[in-house]
Amino acid sequence: MENNKNISWQTDNCLGCKYFVPNDVLNADILERGKCAHPSLVKFNLVVSGRDWCNLFANMSESRRQKLIDEGFKKDDEQQKKLIEESKKADSFD
Ligand code: SF4
Repeated sequence: MENNKNISWQTDNCLGCKYFVPNDVLNADILERGKCAHPSLVKFNLVVSGRDWCNLFANMSESRRQKLIDEGFKKDDEQQKKLIEESKKADSFD
């Protein structure tokens, strides 16, 4: 099965901000929540959605966006492999 490589990211809000660290990168275009890693905000342990915003917004570079997406696919692949292994054990889901 081929992965969907055409993920769209909204801009000018947390989703397009370089400080946004989404919980689920692969679903980050549908109201995904995450953390804000801005140096002056991180101490507040904010939970922000991709559609939030603030005046400290800074554009995410294309390379960072691609890195996050690649990490998301890698994490998803690892999770899938683990699930396949677990499904082979008869009592895994009891
Ligand atoms: S809260 Fe502000 S700094 Fe933090 S991710 Fe959202 S736009 Fe960026």
